[in-house]
Amino acid sequence: MKVSQLPYERFDCVKGAKDIYECVDGIKRANNVEEVIAWHDKAVEIVSHFSTMASLANMRFTLNTFDEFYLKEKTYYDEQSPEFSLAYNEIGKAMLQSKFIDELKRKLNPLIFEKYRIMEASSDPRIVEDKQKEAAICVEYNQLMSGMSFEFKGKEMPLSVLRGYFGSSDREERKAACIALGKGLAEHKAELDDIYDRLVKVRDAQAKKLGFDNYVKLGYLNMERMDYDRDMVEQFRRNVVEKLVPVICKLKEEIKNKLGIDEFMFYDDAVSFVDGEPKPKLDKEGIFKAAQEAYDEMDEEIGKFMRSMQEDEAFDVDSRKGKWGGGYCTNFSDFKQTFILANFNGSSDDIDVVTHEFGHALAMNYAFDGDPELFIGGNETAECHSMSMEFLVWPFMDKFFDEPQKYKFKHLMSSLSFIPYGCIVDEFQHIVYENPQLTPKERNEVYLKLEHKYRPYLSFSGLPYLEEGTRWQYQMHIFESPFYYIDYCLAQTIALSFLVASRYDYKDALRRYKEFAEKGGRVPFGRLCKEAGFLSPFEKGALDKVAAEIPQILKELN
Ligand code: ZN
Repeated sequence: MKVSQLPYERFDCVKGAKDIYECVDGIKRANNVEEVIAWHDKAVEIVSHFSTMASLANMRFTLNTFDEFYLKEKTYYDEQSPEFSLAYNEIGKAMLQSKFIDELKRKLNPLIFEKYRIMEASSDPRIVEDKQKEAAICVEYNQLMSGMSFEFKGKEMPLSVLRGYFGSSDREERKAACIALGKGLAEHKAELDDIYDRLVKVRDAQAKKLGFDNYVKLGYLNMERMDYDRDMVEQFRRNVVEKLVPVICKLKEEIKNKLGIDEFMFYDDAVSFVDGEPKPKLDKEGIFKAAQEAYDEMDEEIGKFMRSMQEDEAFDVDSRKGKWGGGYCTNFSDFKQTFILANFNGSSDDIDVVTHEFGHALAMNYAFDGDPELFIGGNETAECHSMSMEFLVWPFMDKFFDEPQKYKFKHLMSSLSFIPYGCIVDEFQHIVYENPQLTPKERNEVYLKLEHKYRPYLSFSGLPYLEEGTRWQYQMHIFESPFYYIDYCLAQTIALSFLVASRYDYKDALRRYKEFAEKGGRVPFGRLCKEAGFLSPFEKGALDKVAAEIPQILKELN
């Protein structure tokens, strides 16, 4: 069935919650383990129906944000889902308290119980009000940022448009864009500081109500991290400082010489070439045709899946008025259907849609046959699916670009230098939540110190406002999704490992990737990495191979 024809009907959340509470009773009253599982499966099916309808409504809303019907539907789920997920939490509790728990753990994946334990530890009626407050402050931040306008080239523009100039091959232009960024942010300094301060305090309050020293532990629970903790993340960041940072400094020095500049400034960071960045040679139809060819050549099964997505019209990539501006991959589990939304703009970002987002879709498609509660796994695992696919498509890049080497160089350089930036964002949040009393000025000082630690090659000097250590203020995740960001760094590490592996033996690397994706959330992250033949990113030495081999790959591409 085509995605546009998937039948939508509002899921009645009140009735749904009632049905789930019936399952909770069923689990409690069950006389044997089979009965428990039957009630559990019924609850999972209800939840799956809920999420199918909620994500259909949301998808159709993003296709046309002026559509009143789907706006109403989306709002309905936004309002109802907290109540509904409370009901699902009760399933978790009943399962954990079941007298058949030992048998259940043998029959079901034990990770499900880990998930229930996390749900139980991080949700509590005592913090509901604080959570609502937190959500409202996030909306404030969102509205402030999306309403913020920047004066550039004699025009007023939103950050999303201004950002387009940060990578300009004209140095004066990108410098001016970053100055405009600093000036625009500075005008809202007081609001930005105040919003973040309230967010830190309301999160700290939640943690303390639940008996934690600070928000760090609760933040990890909210991210549903099953097999790693803050000490392990710290070891990962140490790996980055020791192994990656020196390599990146050397590579950036080479780019600096190539660009013929004296000082490597913040606004030079996205640039790799004097003569402009690589652009795809194809239009939309061409890109999809080339992508189909690439996946057919890559692997029969993957090619087949791409074809089925195209036949189901599961891509919407045209920019048009009223359409939501971002990009995502989602799914409608009742129909075992994936869907990708994007806004093509003619840049190399368009290629990422059919590589990155398609990697997500492939893993979701595998997961339809797995365990719905574990699905594709945590965010760090899901981003491995997408970021690794970006690199596995490399051998076919000549289909998309006249100068595929140039694209690969840019892709690899930005993937590599992303990791230290992500670590800054992560360590910053650890320090902030461990010291909730820090003043705005002290927070900025912390941020600047971390810049020197992870990106010593980069200078902010002379850039209004940004030189005070405020680059974090437009990093949306720091406000809205605490502790989320490191997941990208962990996934990038695995993606780069797949790239290195694919150069030794492409077929073997692809086989390992498919296995990794097929396992979805059924295996915890660290073990997934090991079973794919890599060290877990948290182990000492995890980045050694990547750090040793990538400069050579870049040299060959140059
Ligand atoms: Zn992604």
